[in-house]
Amino acid sequence: MKYRCICCGLRNHKVIWNDKIRVGKNIFSKNKQKLIACNSCGLVSLKKKTKILEDSSIARNLYNNNNSIKEFIKFHYPREIKKIRFIEKYINFKNKKVLESNCGSGILINYLKKKSSYTAGLDNKLYENFIKKNGHSFYSSINDILTKKTKFDAILSLSELEHKINPILFLKNLKKILSSNGKLILRIPNYNNIYKFLLGYDFLKYDFRNSHNYYFSEKNLDIIFSKLNFKIIKKVGMNEYSFNHLLNYVKTKKRVDNKDVLNFLNKKRDYNLVSNIEKNMISTSLLYILKK
Ligand SMILES: [Zn+2]
Repeated sequence: MKYRCICCGLRNHKVIWNDKIRVGKNIFSKNKQKLIACNSCGLVSLKKKTKILEDSSIARNLYNNNNSIKEFIKFHYPREIKKIRFIEKYINFKNKKVLESNCGSGILINYLKKKSSYTAGLDNKLYENFIKKNGHSFYSSINDILTKKTKFDAILSLSELEHKINPILFLKNLKKILSSNGKLILRIPNYNNIYKFLLGYDFLKYDFRNSHNYYFSEKNLDIIFSKLNFKIIKKVGMNEYSFNHLLNYVKTKKRVDNKDVLNFLNKKRDYNLVSNIEKNMISTSLLYILKK
């Protein structure tokens, strides 16, 4: 059956990509994959969507790389802490019941534990012992939470929606476990970002990957949230990289590791440019804070 847009319901779309996509760090698919874009709301998605990479432990490559959870934390800790500090500019977690969906090793709830009244993680059972050992509750599915009738004042779902095969159902379920005054905090990669605008193909060939079913942008996210009767309390751009990183990418036309970034601009100048990228919603990610 012809694709029907999960955002606006239209069947009118075009193929925007028919080429290899990324399946790992600098590893590409053997076969060409198609990506399609809705002609109305611009929502981009993999033509052949897959469920396998909804499991974040697989998406995080924990099995393939033989990375232990601890090594994973060591690598991601500074990045994750930076994200939660950014989020804290807009939301107060004090005495809140907090759920981190897609929690992995629970870096965010570990950070929030001292302030929040109750912390819980939701993820693959692989993480259960690890999360519980750190003093949090653990759930292996949303159904598990629904059965226990637990509700949360704040739900964090970062870098998760784009992996879902059914993002609408996922959002509906999150709404059910949100307390009446609760906030849902979503961080979603932004398809309409400055890297894509400046680099086009040289960005997309690294950005299109088998683990993302969807590539959202502000327009279609606003429609989706409005249709699901969420109120948008706050939406802001969130850029994961420095402006120097962008300049290095533009110069080399390749993904650059942070440690290899040459600095063309000083910190203050860089910060101002990144702020402007975020203000204009052309950042690598978007942060939405929603209410029922
Ligand atoms: Zn659409």
